[in-house]
Amino acid sequence: IYILGIESSCDDTSAAVLHNDRILSNVVANQTIHAEYGGVVPELASRAHQSNIVPVVDQAIKKAGITKEQLNGIAFTRGPGLMGSLLVGTSFAKSLALGLNIPLIDVNHMQGHILAHYIDEEGHNKPPFPFLAMTISGGHTQIVKVNNYFDMEVIGETIDDAVGEAYDKSGKLLGLGYPAGPQIDKLAQLGNPKAFQFTKPKVEGLNFSFSGLKTAILYFIQRETKANPNFIKEHLNDICASIQYTIIGILMDKLKRATKETGITHIAIGGGVSANSGIRKALKDAESKFGWTTYIPKFEYTTDNAAMIAIVGYLKYRNNDFSDFDVMATARLKI
Ligand code: ATP
Ligand code: FE
Repeated sequence: IYILGIESSCDDTSAAVLHNDRILSNVVANQTIHAEYGGVVPELASRAHQSNIVPVVDQAIKKAGITKEQLNGIAFTRGPGLMGSLLVGTSFAKSLALGLNIPLIDVNHMQGHILAHYIDEEGHNKPPFPFLAMTISGGHTQIVKVNNYFDMEVIGETIDDAVGEAYDKSGKLLGLGYPAGPQIDKLAQLGNPKAFQFTKPKVEGLNFSFSGLKTAILYFIQRETKANPNFIKEHLNDICASIQYTIIGILMDKLKRATKETGITHIAIGGGVSANSGIRKALKDAESKFGWTTYIPKFEYTTDNAAMIAIVGYLKYRNNDFSDFDVMATARLKI
């Protein structure tokens, strides 16, 4: 079975071709335009998707070494995401599926971040059910109990900002460009994680909160730069390391709690922040420390990509779970 996946939920246009559960191609066009604005501008994003989608899909099919007539189904991101961006992928997928007369398969982007673990990869184990998935991205922070491919329960989530947002907003305060997550991660590795302390939020149960941390960092920066205008410059690595240390601590505390409450010790991560070196290391350490088995995605499947959409498409195709052509892009789609 050959599945074409299309992802256009935010600011990356991506297309991928799968042969069963193996990736043949995964093309991502990053939109650089948003860096100037310090965040994603929805109107610019949908326009960029419009100019990118044809060449990106073409390239994915070429790279896969097949013709579009060989495709068996087309999977696309239905939501959650930015409406204008989703509409571009949705209408493109519909027209192509209609033209080729093959099934259309709508995919939930967050299920994609989780089920990316079922892409067949050398050296990567697929998590057995049930497992816990922590989705950490630009728009979400959730702990999901995954009972089966399409039987998922959110058992904890952020009550305000997502963890990726916490990275990006902290980075903005430090004068780092957008997205700041990868830069904070890089600088953090050169600094002392215990140089500065930020209090962790107190949130009930398995839920998260990151807006207080952002404010704490803001006040801290304001106070310190008042005393020393060069404070950020002189301590950038230590500040980044301390922010990262605090964030990883928050994520790990909740994961520990989730394993205690559910008795499940197979833990997978997904979403853009799962590219983070700190969380990857903390999870690896947890294997020997707590006896967990952890599943860490390959870098190219962490931030938005169409391979994760195509694998969900393949899993749905096997169940004959196809979409009607009147399916609509849904900005706030639940898992
Ligand atoms: P969602 O998946 O919730 O709809 P999204 O698709 O916008 O949101 P992703 O592309 O999955 O988000 O992730 C992007 C986020 O990941 C950004 O906030 C970015 O800063 C963050 N990120 C990427 N790499 C790293 C890293 N190494 N360390 C920390 N954060 C990172
Ligand atoms: Fe995402």
